[in-house]
Amino acid sequence: MKQTKKLQVNKLKKYFQVGKDETLKAVDDVSFDVIEGETFGLVGESGCGKSTIGRTIMGLYDRTAGEVVFNEKNVHELKDTETFDFHRSMQMIFQDPYASLNPRSTVKEIISEPMEIHGLYPDKKERLDRVYQLLEEVGLSRDHANRYPHEFSGGQRQRIGIARALALDPEFIIADEPISALDVSVQAQVVNLLRKLQKEKGLTYLFIAHDLSMVKHISDRIGVMYLGNMVELTKASDLYKRPLHPYTQALLSAIPIPDPDVEEGRERMILEGELPSPINPPSGCVFRTRCPFAMEACAKIDPVWQEIEENHYVACHLYNEDIKNKTPIKETVLH
Ligand code: SF4
Repeated sequence: MKQTKKLQVNKLKKYFQVGKDETLKAVDDVSFDVIEGETFGLVGESGCGKSTIGRTIMGLYDRTAGEVVFNEKNVHELKDTETFDFHRSMQMIFQDPYASLNPRSTVKEIISEPMEIHGLYPDKKERLDRVYQLLEEVGLSRDHANRYPHEFSGGQRQRIGIARALALDPEFIIADEPISALDVSVQAQVVNLLRKLQKEKGLTYLFIAHDLSMVKHISDRIGVMYLGNMVELTKASDLYKRPLHPYTQALLSAIPIPDPDVEEGRERMILEGELPSPINPPSGCVFRTRCPFAMEACAKIDPVWQEIEENHYVACHLYNEDIKNKTPIKETVLH
């Protein structure tokens, strides 16, 4: 079956100038594609640049270098009318369902607003019917239309945010940590709702999250980010079966296993130290200050992004035989 690339992120850099002479490298040379109809999970600790990527893809931030191509058009070079269409095709769901909903607007007004801006359903009655339909699609009811956001639970508010994102009938949704602020039981419900909607409407998702536990239930492929860099990318099932990058291994080892016998005998890989500042990132491999396998070469040479197994990419010297064989592995972590 032919796979259509819905979104292409090519060598994207997003730097912020902080102070007079300092540059924060939020996203540093990141590339990946999102295939039509798939869910691409983008995972990493807060501060790794994943949300900045989401906002740069949406055109909310200009890029420093590289390009974002959506439906074969460069997002940062769109003309006015094309920008309008682009914003209809790509929508965003935000992390905090309370902060992202106007507390003074009713649910009906919140969901209608994008339709009004884009001139859809000019007939009021038709627009209201569309609001009712959207509410039902996300598991709420038409009785909720005249209520205000504070009258809802966190999970219900996120459903309202999803209904608003669907109002323009988009093709692509960037879900920026859509479940992080919710209780675990509610997280699964929202993930199931997103999967159902994807099936029904043929949506493509970029799903951003800070840990791997829930992402595996929704993603087809996953990219792991660390300090503005993509460090590993592969199919979700392969990432869980055989994580290659030490950072991915640490993220996976942090997920509790529901079987107490397995959990008890399991060795955890605990990451030491804090995430370094993206203003002054470590030389060579940015993960080297926390990596238990760091070698001398890791401080001197940038790891190369390479395909180690079919469709399984990683940036780590452990998979570069030349470097690995010449450089003894240090027992202590380099600083
Ligand atoms: Fe660890 Fe070196 Fe691989 Fe970086 S390149 S993840 S420091 S082994």
